[in-house]
Amino acid sequence: MARYTGPVCRICRREGIKLFLKGERCYTSKCAMERRPYPPGMHGPEKRRTKLSDYGLRLREKQRLRRIYGVMERQFRRYFEMASKAKGMTGPTLITILERRLDNVVYRLGFASSRAQARQLVSHGHFTVNGRRVDIPSYLVKPGDIISVKEESRDKPYFKALAESLAQTNVPPWLSLDPLTMTGKVLEIPRREDITDVPVREQLVVEFYSR
Ligand code: SF4
Repeated sequence: MARYTGPVCRICRREGIKLFLKGERCYTSKCAMERRPYPPGMHGPEKRRTKLSDYGLRLREKQRLRRIYGVMERQFRRYFEMASKAKGMTGPTLITILERRLDNVVYRLGFASSRAQARQLVSHGHFTVNGRRVDIPSYLVKPGDIISVKEESRDKPYFKALAESLAQTNVPPWLSLDPLTMTGKVLEIPRREDITDVPVREQLVVEFYSR
């Protein structure tokens, strides 16, 4: 599945908020939103934010959500269709589907400092789900799934260095983590209120696709 390979900080500048797409760097003064907190492009600095149309508002909200999880439009649309067919409210369901992506779970468990890095680790085959290697970042986990760093990968310098920081990881309530065995478990389907760091009004995303 395709992924965005262009400049990442540009996305935050376009959306006007920090989306934390770059891991450690996002927490330093090198963050582009600290240095250039205006839209990208030649006239960025002087361009005043004009009032967005109703359409523009909904489009930006949809783009924000899509970009936080690093999903391309076609797949995002598919998630939306899944959410609209599922029981319950479409907006919160859409976010919980995105949360269940394996790359996001790897990020939430503290095995990576950004979703993009998690995606790379997954596609390089460093993780197993229920004992079987899974290298598909979009794999959707379900309650009871056990996600582990592959036995052979644990000796790699990256994962060895990670061992200490894993113990400090705050995992969300729908996941559990055993730092010693580098194993996480999905306890339940996440609820929207468990996802506190996704500043998106999902109702606007639903309205965007329902127009
Ligand atoms: Fe966004 Fe992180 Fe780049 Fe800052 S450093 S602009 S938060 S991706």
